[in-house]
Amino acid sequence: MNDIEINLQNIRTTIPEGVTLVAVSKTKPIDELMKAYNAGQRIFGENKIQEMAEKWEHMPKDIEWHMIGHVQTNKVKYMAPFVNLIHAVDSIKLLKEINKQAQKHNRVINCLLQIKIAEEESKFGLNEKDTIDLLNSEELQNLSNIHIQGLMGMATFTDNHEQIQNEFSIVRRLFEELKPQFPEFKTLSIGMSGDYKTAINSGSTMVRIGSSIFGARNYN
Ligand SMILES: *Cc1c(COP(=O)(O)O)cnc(C)c1O
Repeated sequence: MNDIEINLQNIRTTIPEGVTLVAVSKTKPIDELMKAYNAGQRIFGENKIQEMAEKWEHMPKDIEWHMIGHVQTNKVKYMAPFVNLIHAVDSIKLLKEINKQAQKHNRVINCLLQIKIAEEESKFGLNEKDTIDLLNSEELQNLSNIHIQGLMGMATFTDNHEQIQNEFSIVRRLFEELKPQFPEFKTLSIGMSGDYKTAINSGSTMVRIGSSIFGARNYN
């Protein structure tokens, strides 16, 4: 067994049924992704649209591709033919563009709204009020080629376990609050390599794990 296969097997034993594992493969070459594929992994997460499109072209077509990074409106068209779930949607403007591009391909594209829970200014996302306003806005009702199926959040990058827990609880509370009103809500995407166990304890239904599967990333 190769390292990636071993890592995947180990992680799978820690993830309960009902929690989906997204293998975050950004910066990694296709042969590494194929090792995960051959070990049974079918959901991959990328944070750059161009890179994801290239991998999609060259890899088996039964893979679900998730865009987990911040999305620029003008790049939506490159992933519209194939993307399965866009995790980090944070504006009606972006939703309109996703809807428009999805329409061209006769598709309905699944989306999550990113909620800002981290302290760090650098992290994107909506606050609670803007999320509720967006979900209830009339503009949204006309967008029939998108499907908002839940929320996503990224905790602060810190060793402070309690802080991470508190941040996850913000998005969880909002998720639970919205579910009765939006029955299609089923996904709470929280948790990465360093904090996914905390996230699962905080109600995560989808974890996004990269370095614990593929090893540290090299950005050079
Ligand atoms: C890179 C990334 C991950 C995975 O991070 P690891 O710490 O390597 O598991 C998860 N979510 C998002 C949004 C990311 O950009």
